[in-house]
Amino acid sequence: MKRRQFVTGVAAAAGLSACAEEETASTPSARSVETFEWNMVTSWPAGLPGIGVGVQNLADRLEKTSNGRLKVKVYAGGELVPALEVLDAVSRGTVQMGHDSAYYHRGKVPAAQYFTAVPFGQTVHEKNAWLYYGGGLELWRELYAPFNVIPFVAGNTGVQMAGWFNKEINSVADLKGLKMRIPGVGGEVMRRAGVTQVNVPASEIFTALQTGALDAAEWVGPYNDIALGLHKAARYYYYPGWHEPGPMLQLTVNRDAWNTLPEDLQEIIGTVCQAINVDMMADHTWGNAIALKQLKEDPNVELRRLPDDVLKLLRQYSQEALDELSANDEWAARIQASFNDFQNMAIPYHEISEMAYLNARSL
Ligand code: CA
Repeated sequence: MKRRQFVTGVAAAAGLSACAEEETASTPSARSVETFEWNMVTSWPAGLPGIGVGVQNLADRLEKTSNGRLKVKVYAGGELVPALEVLDAVSRGTVQMGHDSAYYHRGKVPAAQYFTAVPFGQTVHEKNAWLYYGGGLELWRELYAPFNVIPFVAGNTGVQMAGWFNKEINSVADLKGLKMRIPGVGGEVMRRAGVTQVNVPASEIFTALQTGALDAAEWVGPYNDIALGLHKAARYYYYPGWHEPGPMLQLTVNRDAWNTLPEDLQEIIGTVCQAINVDMMADHTWGNAIALKQLKEDPNVELRRLPDDVLKLLRQYSQEALDELSANDEWAARIQASFNDFQNMAIPYHEISEMAYLNARSL
């Protein structure tokens, strides 16, 4: 590439004919003007604040930073393929790209759940550190290799909310018999607490909660939950999101499609994903602050903290669920070891930095 630029530069400086220049650098030049029109399927409702807008930003930035050489058309959940089958579509090569949550595919790849969130796991800061510097990304790429898919970190919502409930949760007994939308290991933990766990895509949560088909549902946080109208479907809004402390979103690229791209476009995808990862977190932080104010002023919404004994029991069940996951899946064991090693190392520092500071600020 450097040699071509040099040769082209010299040719131009010397005023040589366009023909001679073309001959010198025909192959790389042809590649640098080649355009790619790709499709990206997602799990998200079109225009959903934070996430839906974020994936459109991702596509727009890919087109701009590639000078129009990589155009990506974004499809909302269910538009081209079912909302929860994004990874399968990318794996098959039905589309070149997908954006969704890794834990939607826990039936097929149990260990993938570490790449969204596990209960009482890593925060957004810890997750980014583990992925970018602690070997997490390499493990993830290895895990997805058999599916012919390359994953990228492409967004995070920060600590979520525990969810919307149509009744108060004052003790562990109050959880028993509830039917709740809660995916991932969090769902397995709730199952151990006597909850009937289901997963439905974002677009179906409001109706299910409003009609009583569900008694409770977790989605994201104030910003996204208001967008789905969940505050009009249930009264009690519980925190903290013990099950999803720093859930990240994934961009997946079909490997065959990836291999057709020149190196600079591959580099652009990685760099734009990192930019979106920062941007989506900033958007959520901003949007959640505004949306929470609205919810606190809403007479039909009661904001509640889950009682300590409920959180303690959920933590115990989380440990049991994660141990069982590792015992039954070699990949989960390997990933959990790396994930936990870093988290255990990060905790002492975050206790005297993030936690100490936030506590000091609220004195
Ligand atoms: Ca969630």
